Amino acid sequence: MAAAQFDRVADFLNLNDELRERCKWPKRLISVTMPVKLDSGEVKVFFGHRVQHHLTRGPVKGGLRYHPAVDLGEVAALAMWMNWKCALMDLPYGGGKGGITCDPRSMSIGELERLTRRFTMEILPFIGPEIDVMAPDMGTNEQTMAWITDTYSTHAGYLVPSIVTGKPLGLQGSAGRAQATGHGVAFLASSALHKNNLPVEGASAVIQGFGNVGSHTAYTLASYGVKIRGISDVQGAIWHDRGLDVHALREHVAKTGTVVGFANAEPIDPDQLLCQPCDVLAPCALDRVITGDNAGKLQCKILAEGANGPTTPEADAVLDQRGDIHVIPDILCNAGGVTVSYFEWVQNFQHFQWTEREVLSKLETMLQRSFEKVTSFAARQGVSQRVAAQSIAIKTVADAKAQRGMFP
Ligand code: GLU
Repeated sequence: MAAAQFDRVADFLNLNDELRERCKWPKRLISVTMPVKLDSGEVKVFFGHRVQHHLTRGPVKGGLRYHPAVDLGEVAALAMWMNWKCALMDLPYGGGKGGITCDPRSMSIGELERLTRRFTMEILPFIGPEIDVMAPDMGTNEQTMAWITDTYSTHAGYLVPSIVTGKPLGLQGSAGRAQATGHGVAFLASSALHKNNLPVEGASAVIQGFGNVGSHTAYTLASYGVKIRGISDVQGAIWHDRGLDVHALREHVAKTGTVVGFANAEPIDPDQLLCQPCDVLAPCALDRVITGDNAGKLQCKILAEGANGPTTPEADAVLDQRGDIHVIPDILCNAGGVTVSYFEWVQNFQHFQWTEREVLSKLETMLQRSFEKVTSFAARQGVSQRVAAQSIAIKTVADAKAQRGMFP
């Protein structure tokens, strides 16, 4: 999907063969194996990857994912998308992604800690605050980042907070980082509503996923007066016509681990959920959930892509044809996370802490600037929001490569 999207945009930009090849292929692909002692005493070998797509515009930046479906191809695609995301937001980074093939839900804290520390040691020669800076992604969190910080810092002999972002506040994490991605999704959804002359207050939303991204998207949209009608997670989906009480839902999920069974809501089929009438549909979980099969049935006005890669190229073709849904493409829509990661990294170098207000207001300024760039490019060139966003980003990287020239 990532390569097909790249080829389409490279054709549109008329990128010459040399720059096309230099922009398309990852610079470094690092695969490692990690023997880890399980709680049972048995030793299991895990596979992990880190893909550094390019280092042309600065250090590599991107998350670390723990999931049973992780493989090198997926990590490479996600690294490529991180590139375009960082370039579109004008962050001084190349894109990267890491992943370990494991099921974090079935592992103990001790096993996860040993796995994380061993992975950090295996890739130690390839990471650093000016080389490659990891962050949380699916299946990882601030505790994972704390273990990486500790492992790297122990090796260095002093605390190196800028080795990762998305750290706990007590270890020089940033105010606002935990809610940054969801805050950005909600903020951009409201920008898209404005752009399409639709009111924000009283609008309705459906959210797929209630993890870090989905939950904060829900809280922020609710704070704007948007009714969250439907939410799903891996176990099922719930619906309330007049809007769910998302704060009561947060408590329910803290107690039970799922949105399912929430009082004051009806159960709904998770696949059906995506096709219900609403102003904003925000897929905030897995990739490839908007497909050639369901794209024709969507009844939203704004598609806010909180997840990475939620829409397949077949679905894009259907949405382009329909032309009645404003898509906020993933590399813009979920860029709030990496943007506040950038703020965290800057604060670590400054040895200074910004307030949450400062962080979120700087974030909104940067998101709005990129949103305007993308919507005006799309209008000017008569292309989709996705092609517009990727064109701006790919051109930024291609120009930097052309300016740097080649060694030797
Ligand atoms: N994993 C997040 C993403 O896909 C955040 C990456 C970061 O903060 O570096 O954008």
